[in-house]
Amino acid sequence: MSDAYKHYIDGEWVSGAGSETFESENPATGEALGTFERGTPGDVDAAVDAADAAFEEWRELSRVQRAEYLWDVYHELRERTDELGEIVTKECGKEISEGKADVVEAAHMVEWAAGDARHPKGDIVPSEIPAKDAYMRRKPRGVTGCITPWNFPVAIPYWHMAIALVEGNTVVFKPAEQTPWCAQIIAEMFDDAGIPDGVFNMVQGFGDAGNAIVEHDDVETVIFTGSAEVGHLIQDKLGGVAGKRAACEMGGKNAIVVTEEADLDTAVHSAVMSSFKTTGQRCVSSERLIVHTDVYDEFKERFVEIAADVAVGDPLREDTFMGPLIEAEHHEKVAEYNELARKEGVNVLVDRTDLDADEIPDGHEDGHWIGPFVYEADPDEDLRCTHEEVFGPHVALLEYDGDIERAVELQNDTEYGLAGAIVSEDYRQINYYRDHAELGLAYGNLPCIGAEVQLPFGGVKKSGNGYPSAREAIEAVTDRTAWTLNNS
Ligand code: NAD
Repeated sequence: MSDAYKHYIDGEWVSGAGSETFESENPATGEALGTFERGTPGDVDAAVDAADAAFEEWRELSRVQRAEYLWDVYHELRERTDELGEIVTKECGKEISEGKADVVEAAHMVEWAAGDARHPKGDIVPSEIPAKDAYMRRKPRGVTGCITPWNFPVAIPYWHMAIALVEGNTVVFKPAEQTPWCAQIIAEMFDDAGIPDGVFNMVQGFGDAGNAIVEHDDVETVIFTGSAEVGHLIQDKLGGVAGKRAACEMGGKNAIVVTEEADLDTAVHSAVMSSFKTTGQRCVSSERLIVHTDVYDEFKERFVEIAADVAVGDPLREDTFMGPLIEAEHHEKVAEYNELARKEGVNVLVDRTDLDADEIPDGHEDGHWIGPFVYEADPDEDLRCTHEEVFGPHVALLEYDGDIERAVELQNDTEYGLAGAIVSEDYRQINYYRDHAELGLAYGNLPCIGAEVQLPFGGVKKSGNGYPSAREAIEAVTDRTAWTLNNS
């Protein structure tokens, strides 16, 4: 136990109340990377108490003063991008270019939030009465619980925390249990920056620690990114509680629409990048390709040829296109969905669920490897495999006949509304899609992949409840007061 990495509470590295530990594992090799203490509800209590006590002084600093600590973090992220990118890749298995991109995105978010500290806040509102000032001010809400997923283990925590901190809230961070090493480094960065005790706290652990944050009376706001299953549980718990707020960003069953007016090079590139990069484990990965009948056969032939051939490889190598899945349990889940699709009667075109030994990189036999699974399905059938998020390289080809209205109808035939793309050279089609696709994020003639921190990043319908990152996230972590002052 004493060798395990500890929690970070009230400015100290502390051993928790529990005696259990857990290991971080390299998903490409199965190698153990480190041992971490498993947080308990008692540890969450201690972290929330520290955050609550620190709030009164932290909120009295100006935004610019608070942002100074973030600028230190920003410089460290920039200076250590290559080193940290390698750690991201080792711990979550994504290709090294993606590991570094995760760190760069974190730096962009911190830069945005710290820079925003100098921007005007609130609105001056015209009053009906002379000599009366009317304006709107924002106030921090207090202790903010940040519960994050494993697939962007550096970027997403900073999406949550940078804005919350600059706006004057204090934080209790519960990282994903698959990526505690990345979380440890995040905590070290705040410690190095000298952030006042109790302003940032981290409790490592699993869903029980996350749940303790959600249920804690003194946590005013919960920011969550992860599965719809857990996100909706959190929304249900907090939705009816006076004063509480839950900002939840969840999964998707994303689609790319390829119309009869598409450039097929662009369409195939968009689909391959979105469906297979990071082994389909991004919230914006496409698991449905909705393709017009006029171009269907050619698109299918080209996409299937690549899916049958795309290689998995050591994610630390620059030339690797696709790494492993995150863990054995997730491998089992993706394999079960592939099996389910067969049972639901789809026409399987590529099945690389079980890779041959010679397809697995040398020395990586214990990794969680899987290849693409591609099939054709009837778009009008209500199948689980074409409606539920799998979070792997599991892709349905859905052929449609008719106009753009029909394609958008199929795009919207899901409870989710996170991301989607259209490939078309007809601006009437693009405009119709833009106006009618039920999505938080849409891409035109681009891969359905990628984020820019100055744009909101979040979904509609079952994918999010309206507090995406960046400017809109400020709504989640502040309350507004309409202020009027008699100047006469
Ligand atoms: P997950 O929901 O299993 O876990 C996310 C976090 O919630 C983890 O820290 C976990 O420990 C915690 N948790 C689990 N049970 C909990 C409970 N009962 N109460 C409170 N916290 C609990 O998700 P994951 O497997 O880590 O991530 C993959 C999912 O995240 C996918 O669905 C993906 O689409 C989604 N995702 C969404 C976005 C977005 O911005 N919309 C971004 C990345 C990932």
